[in-house]
Amino acid sequence: MTDPVLSVRNLNIDYIGADKNFSAVKDVSFDIASGEFFGLAGESGCGKSTIAFAISRLHRPPALIRKGSEIIVGGRDVLQLNDKELKSFRWREVAMVFQSAMNSLNPVLTIADQFYDVLKTHTKVTRAEARERAAELLKLVDISPDRLDAYPHQCSGGMRQRIVIAICLSLNPKLLIMDEPTTALDVVVQREILQRIDVLRTRLGFSVLFITHDLGLMVQVSDRIGIMLNGEMVECNDSQTIYNSPQHDYTKKLWASMPKLHGEQIRPEASA
Ligand code: ADP
Ligand code: MG
Repeated sequence: MTDPVLSVRNLNIDYIGADKNFSAVKDVSFDIASGEFFGLAGESGCGKSTIAFAISRLHRPPALIRKGSEIIVGGRDVLQLNDKELKSFRWREVAMVFQSAMNSLNPVLTIADQFYDVLKTHTKVTRAEARERAAELLKLVDISPDRLDAYPHQCSGGMRQRIVIAICLSLNPKLLIMDEPTTALDVVVQREILQRIDVLRTRLGFSVLFITHDLGLMVQVSDRIGIMLNGEMVECNDSQTIYNSPQHDYTKKLWASMPKLHGEQIRPEASA
């Protein structure tokens, strides 16, 4: 792959315990190309979030990344960045939508102020400029600028989730990480949000690392998929291969454990 946006090499992450250490991520390597929608799938507890936090450099003790691991973004090893470099790395290069992100908005700030908060720490903006940029970003996720003066509790779950995504896009990151971003939402809203992300990815050119335990949803939106089992990436292939001719026994087992896909595909062109 030429010039990947992200290269993860030999990533090993342990959780340090009083008696013994637990190896949560075992020698994981993968690349994400520019503009690619990459899925990370696997059952709960297999290490997906641990990887996402490490890429964003948001991991905290007891998580310990072993020496020899590399996470390359924009030619630099994220694991070697100092505090100043990290500040410009976050939001600008990699932004992360957390699991249950819709509850991560500050309840006492209006939507406009949540945007201002992020924009002012990373760029020189006035409140008026931030408001204008926020209105543009909200439009990207199909939300009327009327909502700028609303508080989070006045917005539905799906709308709050889209607002978080819009905030994550505010500094034009190269990579958007979404860790189970829609798990708490109903199926129709999930699809709408993922469809929207897909359109924006094409228009704005960012790459996506999408994490879910729902492989059925994942094959519909991803270009390539990595399958995790107990901290290891056991298979990494394009979505069609994962769906039509899975190589690893565990991938086959995952399919056997879930109902077959029905209905319209989100990206019909990908199934050709
Ligand atoms: P996933 O996101 O795939 O559900 P996680 O990355 O959250 O999995 O967790 C991977 C493994 O690491 C799990 O077995 C989990 O119990 C363990 N783990 C996660 N966080 C901690 C922690 N703070 N301390 C100890 N073990 C942890
Ligand atoms: Mg998780």
